[in-house]
Amino acid sequence: MLHDVETPEGRAAFARPFDVCVIGAGPAGITLARRLAARGLAVALMEGGGLEWSEESQDIAVGESVGLTYPDLDAARVRAFGGSSGHWNGLCRAFEAADMRPRPQNPSSGWPIGREDLDPYQAEVAEILDLVPAYDDAAPATPIPPEDGFEQVWYLRSAPTRFGEKYLDEITSAPRIALGVHANLVDLRLDDGLTSVTRAVFRAYGAADPGFTVTAQSYCLCTGGFENPRLLLNFDSQIPGGIGNQNDLVGRFFCDHLRMEVGEVIMSAVPEAEVRFFTPTEDFLAERQTLKIVLHLDYYRRKPLSLPKELARSVQCTLPFGERLAEAVTGDVLHCDRGGVEDWLASRDPEANPWGRVVVNSEPALNPESRITLSDARDALGLRRTRLDWRTLPIDDRTIRESTLAFAGHLADRGEGRMRLYDTALAEQPIRATEPEQRLNGWHQMCTTRMSDDPKTGVVDRNCRVHGLANLYIGGSSVFSTPGFQNPTYTIVQLALRLADHLAA
Ligand SMILES: Cc1cc2nc3c(=O)[nH]c(=O)nc-3n(C[C@H](O)[C@H](O)[C@H](O)COP(=O)(O)OP(=O)(O)OC[C@H]3O[C@@H](n4cnc5c(N)ncnc54)[C@H](O)[C@@H]3O)c2cc1C
Repeated sequence: MLHDVETPEGRAAFARPFDVCVIGAGPAGITLARRLAARGLAVALMEGGGLEWSEESQDIAVGESVGLTYPDLDAARVRAFGGSSGHWNGLCRAFEAADMRPRPQNPSSGWPIGREDLDPYQAEVAEILDLVPAYDDAAPATPIPPEDGFEQVWYLRSAPTRFGEKYLDEITSAPRIALGVHANLVDLRLDDGLTSVTRAVFRAYGAADPGFTVTAQSYCLCTGGFENPRLLLNFDSQIPGGIGNQNDLVGRFFCDHLRMEVGEVIMSAVPEAEVRFFTPTEDFLAERQTLKIVLHLDYYRRKPLSLPKELARSVQCTLPFGERLAEAVTGDVLHCDRGGVEDWLASRDPEANPWGRVVVNSEPALNPESRITLSDARDALGLRRTRLDWRTLPIDDRTIRESTLAFAGHLADRGEGRMRLYDTALAEQPIRATEPEQRLNGWHQMCTTRMSDDPKTGVVDRNCRVHGLANLYIGGSSVFSTPGFQNPTYTIVQLALRLADHLAA
């Protein structure tokens, strides 16, 4: 049933005890609630937004960013029923076994669970996300020999499934699920021993709203990679520093995938697939001590370039300091590493001159100093807002630079084409050199309540239970121990199904 908690009748539906209180109705929360209900449990599914996007709900997601440039925090997700699946692109891929194991070049990396713990959910995830192969999944005509250092990988694609649209009818007619909308979690109250949650406190948007409580045997926080830590840090009235934060880990290790365009390829022939994905082999990673990265090679028909512009570029680029001079006079960056008369000629016949562009999507290093804390500003519900300080490490820059260079060599060796690397990709710090306009965003907030068997290195255990609390669990990419290069939603849904099975058991 659907209950709007802005009305007294809506609130009355939550006066009874539930088996599980799921907070947040994005892919994690909706998957969890559906599965728990199917297992016979009574579920309160509490969503802070409404059924549609609204300004008052979205404003709660506003925060400040003081580190590496990040999109506006409220633009980076959707705060309404269905969560950010209202915006996502649907690109999916499961973690590989090796990506869940520790890698020495990435200290703190490695999950306490393995791919074998997530694999049993593959078929259900495919159904939930309506997965089909992405792009062309034909095997490469000539398999790449492993000694080349790169291998081709494939993705799956979701429609993209909008959870709010796909699951609303099912959830509102499910006898075991009570869905509350406009229900914002504003506190979790613990027992006297501080070992379990006794009730969750919610509020709607009215300034004078006294709030109401929901009681359940277990509570699952599924509010996304920013909000999961922000809420735990805010709930500090019984435990200084916040819930689950006894080792000062909540909000640390924030990361997102590092995405940027690194160059263009003049291809030898029109490729058999428009988009292909390559990753360095494990041997390459071990030898170079770099992190995992995926390189998208997109074939495209190039738009004809403008002759006057490219002629001017060629002339100016022959001058010493041409780039700096042009920038000083026109205010525009000349980019001598691309374009020019030669390219103009080639661009006039795109069929005869196939072009590609290379975009990298790099696994970020785990950095405890990259973190979410609280700002002094408060939202309309009285909670302190998010302060994001996103930081990368030198290995992130080196991974992008070295992998891109090696990939250029790989394409040349295989006779696929010649890659023109952008200056930014070759810079000492490709990430800073590329940001902010040219950097493409991952929109994946990960690792802020990471999973570890040891409370000194993680916030949740292998069952997603917050260390030190008997009945508080977390869903979503904040529990990722290591981010991987994969888009996160596939794994988020696998983890939600696994958590439901754990709770039902
Ligand atoms: C532009 C864009 C493109 C993307 N493309 C891809 C892609 O191609 N592939 C991929 O795998 N992923 C992609 N993603 C990421 C994907 O959307 C997320 O991984 C996914 O939505 C996370 O699911 P979640 O349930 O953990 O969190 P969310 O989707 O963020 O849901 C959290 C829910 O909690 C609610 N909530 C928040 N605070 C409270 C509170 N205090 N009380 C109650 N409820 C609350 C929110 O309103 C929301 O409904 C993309 C994201 C964006 C923004």
